[in-house]
Amino acid sequence: QRQELISVQACLTYALRLFGSRLSEQGVRVEQRLPETTLWVQGDLVRLEQVLVNLIGNALQAMKAYSAPTLTLTAQRQGDTVTISVADSGPGIAPDHVERIFEPFFTTKAPGSGLGLGLSISSRIMDDLGGTLSAANRAEGGACFILTLPHAPEPQ
Ligand code: ADP
Ligand code: MG
Repeated sequence: QRQELISVQACLTYALRLFGSRLSEQGVRVEQRLPETTLWVQGDLVRLEQVLVNLIGNALQAMKAYSAPTLTLTAQRQGDTVTISVADSGPGIAPDHVERIFEPFFTTKAPGSGLGLGLSISSRIMDDLGGTLSAANRAEGGACFILTLPHAPEPQ
């Protein structure tokens, strides 16, 4: 896989841009909590973008029947690690499903609207990037997916 320096902020922007007008059509408020200084990670930009697109797509599907849908994207550096989170204001993940959502072909969606591969592929990509992917429910409601990646040194 490619080893390029990736700006996390730029990658989030590219991923959001792929959804085009879908976000505003669904009335989704996008809240971005990003630091002003660029967060650098190393790897394949297209693959990290694919993970973000999978997570944002799941968030949009989860919030479909919910009022005031809000997508919250955050990124921060914690020592040698960069943490990115994709959070929504949907129903969250059922306690019985938390252990299973990363399994290939696990889906709670109607036939035809989900293959159940997005999270297993995403978790594999994060592994390949030397990072992690995990899920949690938020106290205020909704699901939160957390990505970690090693922080890369500033480009010279
Ligand atoms: P698919 O989207 O095709 O169902 P995924 O691997 O992307 O497959 O997700 C697996 C399952 O994890 C979903 O069917 C759903 O039950 C659960 N899930 C994923 N993202 C969310 C989310 N943001 N909120 C609630 N449940 C989710
Ligand atoms: Mg999916």
